[in-house]
Amino acid sequence: MSQNNIVLSVADVSKRFGGLNALSDVDLQIEEGTVHAIIGPNGAGKSTLLNVCVGRIKPDEGHVIFDGEILDRHKPHEINQLGVARVFQTPEIFPDLSLLHNVMLPALAKRDGAFKFNAWVGLERENALRQEAEHILEDVNLYDERMQEAASLSRGNKRRLELAMGLIQKPRLLLLDEPTAGMARHDTNRTIDLLKKLKARGMTKVIIEHDMHVVFSLADKISVLAQGQIIAEGTPQEVRGNPKVQEAYLGGAH
Ligand code: ADP
Ligand code: MG
Repeated sequence: MSQNNIVLSVADVSKRFGGLNALSDVDLQIEEGTVHAIIGPNGAGKSTLLNVCVGRIKPDEGHVIFDGEILDRHKPHEINQLGVARVFQTPEIFPDLSLLHNVMLPALAKRDGAFKFNAWVGLERENALRQEAEHILEDVNLYDERMQEAASLSRGNKRRLELAMGLIQKPRLLLLDEPTAGMARHDTNRTIDLLKKLKARGMTKVIIEHDMHVVFSLADKISVLAQGQIIAEGTPQEVRGNPKVQEAYLGGAH
């Protein structure tokens, strides 16, 4: 393996919820330009880890370092400004706005600083941004629906809309929490193709995924989380054959 730059480093992170150790001494290094998958059974702590990385949850111990900055000392919007974008497990979209405006807003918020409630007043004047949003909607196969209200979309399409909202920010690091959850197989395949296209453009991504088909078609490296601990790490081939991983899955909810 070549010596790549480390973009994100999770160092000894622990997080408890009451008596439950959701994360215990988690260490993780994400190399620039790679797709790094985090897999593990339900309740393993995957979403918690991602939320720690974007500042939504403060770790009890340890740190998250991105590009020399200690992220867990920053607020979520500051982390976003530093170049980290995320797509959550439950899509966070603006249901009453058109798809086009949904995609334009995160770029405006990033450009103009903290989110302004009257941001959409100026949306019609943002021609360059509108074109960019249209291109991205083409990328995610939602161009024909661009003038519809986001609320009208199917669950799978809402997830792709949220992906578009992440992409327009041109983040250095994109974090995706189960981007294909709720999608039918053909939709999942379209999303995998899209993520592969993005991979060719070199965007670093951390992807949480339970769909092994998605993981093995995309990931350069996989970390396996079980009961809040990293139990295995390596290439898809290395992880696939690891007995600890098979055991964690058999003992888990999946
Ligand atoms: P995963 O994404 O791997 O399914 P989560 O990170 O969502 O797992 O959850 C890990 C564990 O922490 C689970 O047992 C879950 O019930 C618990 N948990 C997650 N968030 C909270 C919270 N805000 N309060 C209490 N417990 C939580
Ligand atoms: Mg989760």
